[in-house]
Amino acid sequence: MKIIRAYLVGISILLASSLVSFGEIKVIIEHNEGAAASDAFKFKKIPTPSQNDAATNATFTIVDGARDRSGGGLRKLNDGQLPTDEDQPEENFFFQAGSDGGRVLVDLHTNIDISEVNSYSWHPGSRGPQVYKLYASAGTAKDFNSKPTRTNDPVKSGWKLLANVDSRPKTGNVGGQYGVSITNSHGTIGKYRYLLFDISATASNDDFAQTFYSEIDIVEKNSKPQPIVNVAGKTFRTNSTDGKCEIVIDSSRAPDLDDWAQHTLAPALAEWYPKICAMLASDGYTPPARFSVRLAPGNGVAATGGTRITANSTWLKTQIGKEAVGSLIHEEVHVIQQYGRARRSPDATDDPGWLVEGIPDYIRFYFFEPQTHGANIRPSNVDRVHYDDKYRTSANFLNFVSEKYDKEIVKKVNAVLRDGNYRASIWKDNTGKTLQELADEWKANLKAQAPAPRDSNSKTNGVS
Ligand SMILES: [Zn+2]
Repeated sequence: MKIIRAYLVGISILLASSLVSFGEIKVIIEHNEGAAASDAFKFKKIPTPSQNDAATNATFTIVDGARDRSGGGLRKLNDGQLPTDEDQPEENFFFQAGSDGGRVLVDLHTNIDISEVNSYSWHPGSRGPQVYKLYASAGTAKDFNSKPTRTNDPVKSGWKLLANVDSRPKTGNVGGQYGVSITNSHGTIGKYRYLLFDISATASNDDFAQTFYSEIDIVEKNSKPQPIVNVAGKTFRTNSTDGKCEIVIDSSRAPDLDDWAQHTLAPALAEWYPKICAMLASDGYTPPARFSVRLAPGNGVAATGGTRITANSTWLKTQIGKEAVGSLIHEEVHVIQQYGRARRSPDATDDPGWLVEGIPDYIRFYFFEPQTHGANIRPSNVDRVHYDDKYRTSANFLNFVSEKYDKEIVKKVNAVLRDGNYRASIWKDNTGKTLQELADEWKANLKAQAPAPRDSNSKTNGVS
């Protein structure tokens, strides 16, 4: 469904001291929902985002507020690239969670006759719509302040308020793709060097209501901006081997991983999805019928939110034939865990955080790739490790308890984690030993297996 709303914002009051008539500022808002919200960013009246508008070479600065580190930087606003899906934090700029936004300054470096200011956003929930005030200035006023923070009214320091944008729909879904276009009935907004976006959250009762801004375009009069052509043709789909889950892999931002993604990664994920589902089956639970994997340059290794996996292609490229597939099997386990908010145990002493990361590595290193011995503990580390160190170390502990006491222990622990009923007593109920007793036993066992400490001849026995 596509909704178009247009309204006029008179600025006659602002012109009281001006000798020039600026006509009327016009704000057009379009809201794409469902299939209309695609990676093509097509609107009826608003142009598709551009890759060579005047904002492309402008300098963007935050003058108030802080960016959310889980999002992309300010560069996302004028990099000529667009998200390929509705929830890609790293492809958008947004202010910090829990805040009421902030101010972004755009310096065009010279006065430009501006015909349009267009802003684009995309998110399935309250981060979709846009709420901001747009100010502009030539920067020539004597009292001009180029970086007014929110305690300062820009109008009092050489700025003009151009538009008050609020694209939140009165009824229906707030989520979707939004385009906002600010123009003037006279064809030009005015000659300005600076624009100031005073961006607000879209809801005050929601910590995660900071709009995902995908692109901001500033169009110079009589220029012909080229639209961005999204390269998301590379997305491909496969099914898990039992046919119950569609796996969508997007390598459009990492074309040199195409071949690996299609011929190595996809078959592994397809084969292991049903296996992991069986290992982590619980009453009344149906695993997701679709999940996506996006390979793109980024930070760290990989992360999973809900049913979306994002992996750092730069790191993956260094790990082909090594950690690459295994790290994504770990993320695939997260997709199947779906502990959601249930993973917050009601009692802090029963905190299961270590299991959330321990179970994926347990499946990865003891079932998917046991030949790598990736969760073995180096003899030199035995004194230092704790069962709740997460990842490989917790995987090693889970394997110990599973082998010695109860082959089904991980499945049982997973079931209560998923239901939000995890208690440390589950260990005693199933093994006769408390968690601490099991941990002590595990350590004693590790020490017994490790070569005698300080033995210089045992150096070569280290396993990693
Ligand atoms: Zn993880």
